[in-house]
Amino acid sequence: MALVTTTEMFKKAYDGGYAVGAFNVNNMEIVQGITEAAGELKSPVILQVSKGARAYANHTYLVKLVEAAIIENPEIPIALHLDHGDTFELCKSCIDGGFTSVMIDASSKSFEDNIALTKQVVEYAHAHGVVVEAELGTLEGVEDEVVVEAGKASYTRPEEVEEFVTRTGCDSLAIAIGTSHGAYKFRPEQCTRNADGILVPPPLRFDVLEEVSKRLPGFPIVLHGSSSVPQEFVKMVNTYGGNMPDAIGIPEKELRHAAELSVCKINIDSDIRLAMTGNIRKYFAEHPEHFDPRQYLKPARQAVKDMVAHKIVNVLGSAGKA
Ligand SMILES: [Zn+2]
Repeated sequence: MALVTTTEMFKKAYDGGYAVGAFNVNNMEIVQGITEAAGELKSPVILQVSKGARAYANHTYLVKLVEAAIIENPEIPIALHLDHGDTFELCKSCIDGGFTSVMIDASSKSFEDNIALTKQVVEYAHAHGVVVEAELGTLEGVEDEVVVEAGKASYTRPEEVEEFVTRTGCDSLAIAIGTSHGAYKFRPEQCTRNADGILVPPPLRFDVLEEVSKRLPGFPIVLHGSSSVPQEFVKMVNTYGGNMPDAIGIPEKELRHAAELSVCKINIDSDIRLAMTGNIRKYFAEHPEHFDPRQYLKPARQAVKDMVAHKIVNVLGSAGKA
């Protein structure tokens, strides 16, 4: 199967009550870990590249790694998506350079400016067979160059979504219902603590999601900042010399529920970073004499694969849907 857009994926996901995982890729081991899991579980998958990933690994390297993954996993649909494009030029460069989907994130601009920029990207993308994700509302947190200070975030206003989608012609919409970028999604004062002293975050605003869905029947919704920050990885990082106190994510049960509703794409990045870092730290601690990168990247890649497999089966519900 060649690289595909997300159109068919999202239609099936919407009707089937599941979501497709969108995992951020930065290097070969991450691409392999994700696509090996998706391939074995016969799951559709979205590989997404941020502006920062493109600056780190180079556009051509990333596209060629994804092309290799398609050759190695011919039975599953794979989409290549730009995560958080912030200018028309960046989106155009990815559309011209082989991506099948782009996000234009103009959510920090005014409603009218967001519409104008999104519409410009949609017109160019659609003329080239590429689909566009847009965003209304802003998430808290840090992701590459996207930094939104605590308290500056705002939930999506459902009364704006129909006009926005109609006027821009976007193909999917990222909304803000309380998810957040990064490994510290909530400040301790926003949370309660359970009996083990682990932070319990405030619940997602499913009322906002439901209101949006009512106004946009059949339209695919996207959740950013949806890592669950598994405490086993946080513990691994902290046990082997790291320092990540109170790292916290979105409970998987809530993401599973969102996937059953209109959410067709769930973005996961921090969990990949945590799986790799935890396992590399552990490996170094247990094998201080080793210096071959293959030795410590192998368990890191396996950890990404196991984590993605877990998400596909237990959170996204996309196993067997290729
Ligand atoms: Zn995001």
